[in-house]
Amino acid sequence: MPDGKTLHDAFLDELRDAYDAEKQLTKALPKMAKAATSPELRAAFESHLEETRGQVTRLEDVFATLNEKVRGKHCDGIAGIIEEGKSVMEEDFDDATMDACLIAGGQRAEHYEMAAYGSLIAWARVMGHAEAADLLQETLDEEKAADKKLSSLATAGINQEAADGANSEEESDADEKQKPASQTRSKVINLPKAKRRR
Ligand code: FE
Ligand code: ZN
Ligand code: FE
Repeated sequence: MPDGKTLHDAFLDELRDAYDAEKQLTKALPKMAKAATSPELRAAFESHLEETRGQVTRLEDVFATLNEKVRGKHCDGIAGIIEEGKSVMEEDFDDATMDACLIAGGQRAEHYEMAAYGSLIAWARVMGHAEAADLLQETLDEEKAADKKLSSLATAGINQEAADGANSEEESDADEKQKPASQTRSKVINLPKAKRRR
């Protein structure tokens, strides 16, 4: 095969893609932290932001072990995930629902990264780039931990709180149909306050 590009070329392309993806995430994560209401969720995004900055640097080290110039190549995948996250943040969700959505969006990003690093590590190993593989594994471990942290925040209360809001909303909708207009009105007026309670 004289003129086909090799797995090594594909590997470098994917490294450049990952480098660009991490850089995009260093810009998206502060916005997600700001949009979060739960202090624990905000802290999780902020600490993963710090980690992500380290992952950018670590990828520069990976390029160095391969004697390659540091280069990025636009990552359409993470750009799409970030774009979807932006649309969600523009919605008028109650606080707990927004937190649940931020977790869902964050986990989409983590899973995308986990898939990318998984392949990169396997390719690095099979081509004998052991040092690069070890560095990439450190990042994969961080992505997995970040994903787990988001899962635990979701199941430790954020999803339930969001669901409670959805239930009380349904109840008040049902109430409105049965009660006289005067009570319906007060119910409607009270609703925003009830939604804001945290
Ligand atoms: Fe990352
Ligand atoms: Zn990509
Ligand atoms: Fe990540």
